[in-house]
Amino acid sequence: MSVSIVWFRSDLRLSDNPALIKALESGHAVVPVFVLDEETDGVRPLGAASRWWLHHSLHTLGASLRRLGSRLILRRGPAEKVIGELVAECRATSVFWNRAYDRGCRERDTRLKKALSARGVAAESFKASLLFEPWEVTTQSGGAFKVFTPFWRACRALPPPPAPLPAPQRLAAPEAWPAGEPLAGWRLPPTSPDWAGGLRAGWTPGEDGAKQRLAHFLDDAIEDYRQARDLPGVEGTSRLSPHLAFGEIGPRQIWQAAMTRGASAATEKFLAEVGWREFAYNLLFHNGDLAERNFRPEFDAFPWTDPGEALAAWQRGRTGYPIVDAGMRELWTTGWMHNRVRMIVASFLTKDLMIDWRQGERWFWDTLVDADLANNATGWQWVAGCGADAAPYFRVFNPVLQGEKFDPDGDYVRRWVPEIAHLPNDAIHRPWTAAMPPNDYPGRIVEHGAARDRALAAFQTLKKSA
Ligand code: FAD
Repeated sequence: MSVSIVWFRSDLRLSDNPALIKALESGHAVVPVFVLDEETDGVRPLGAASRWWLHHSLHTLGASLRRLGSRLILRRGPAEKVIGELVAECRATSVFWNRAYDRGCRERDTRLKKALSARGVAAESFKASLLFEPWEVTTQSGGAFKVFTPFWRACRALPPPPAPLPAPQRLAAPEAWPAGEPLAGWRLPPTSPDWAGGLRAGWTPGEDGAKQRLAHFLDDAIEDYRQARDLPGVEGTSRLSPHLAFGEIGPRQIWQAAMTRGASAATEKFLAEVGWREFAYNLLFHNGDLAERNFRPEFDAFPWTDPGEALAAWQRGRTGYPIVDAGMRELWTTGWMHNRVRMIVASFLTKDLMIDWRQGERWFWDTLVDADLANNATGWQWVAGCGADAAPYFRVFNPVLQGEKFDPDGDYVRRWVPEIAHLPNDAIHRPWTAAMPPNDYPGRIVEHGAARDRALAAFQTLKKSA
């Protein structure tokens, strides 16, 4: 019996998995494989929180495959070499995978496709992690969009995404399984110290966990999404982002589940946020160095400051600004941060502290369970003002006013900054004004008004030199 290899990557699911269905339909024996590729140049290794997630997601996927009479073979190394070796070991006649869109993976995949074809092995890739391919959504002149609203309008004018594919019921096993490595041997989760307690408490990695999240959100939260999505003290968003980042659920499944409940303004708003993810992937596809370089080159001359102690205070949630510190501590404990607060902490780093957005991007990459090259780089460049369709640099979030507006009763801050939980509402976002300021909470590392003036003055030098 011929063998097809299915190479799992950021698509750790059985349902709506076109590469897997293609292998099934080929009628061949199927060898599912995951390669931990930390060696290929240009492919960014996962951060620590993502490694924790990956461990659990692979464990779950392996168990699901066993229920279909199959297995998940784990190998480590440069993916081109590893897949090439597996093809030889299994005498595979085809290899299928779902597409990635960052430059490092695309270049590697193209090289692999060529090498396999040269050996007479069929290699085919599929659309699984986006609703629309980057080359399907273009401006009238055939170029790439740089602004979200017309981009999303163009997406919505295309035929809607097809219905998701069902999960296979059974997969034919090869006569002999190739050897795999034990997952535990990869030591993906932290050991000493084990900082993952908050991750374990808050998340259920894997396809079932993703489906439960989606069902819970659609049953209980989507109707209030437009109002509640900006309030970090309320569980008003889907929290699907890590599941999407690892492909435990695909956007077509989200689209269909949301639409099946009927089109409404709330559904439209939610799908538009999923649309921001599409936009970010589009930007990354057309700008391979989006996570390293300013999208707007005039920012190359921006006088960022030396990170020093201020960066450490920001990372540890000890800036003296409660909403910033709450966000950074939520991130450290749970591996996730509310979108509104991501914007506030990113503005604080890049404007109040004038620290290069790439420092923040890297910290998020290491600590987020939903770390995603496209969304993270787009989010950081958007806030810093150097991105596509970005917030203008001169729009500097005031962390006190943002806190008072979006966390009016201080619920979010009290949860994450317990040292100041006893303060009354009128001081919770400005503890230095309290009658008795808490002595175990740091004073402000910068004064926002002065920091804002400094940032705007730096921005002016940029405009003059342009
Ligand atoms: P929901 O509001 O329920 O939205 C549903 C889905 O839509 C999300 O899961 C996500 O896939 C997508 N989405 C929502 N908002 C955005 C957005 N602004 N940009 C792109 N996609 C969006 N998102 C990541 O997935 N990974 C990251 O590494 C990441 N880094 C960010 C860094 C900064 C500085 C900023 C400002 C935003 C970043 N985001 C990132 C975007 C956004 O904050 C998260 O996607 C969102 O908070 C995830 O929560 P949710 O799943 O409950 O979102």
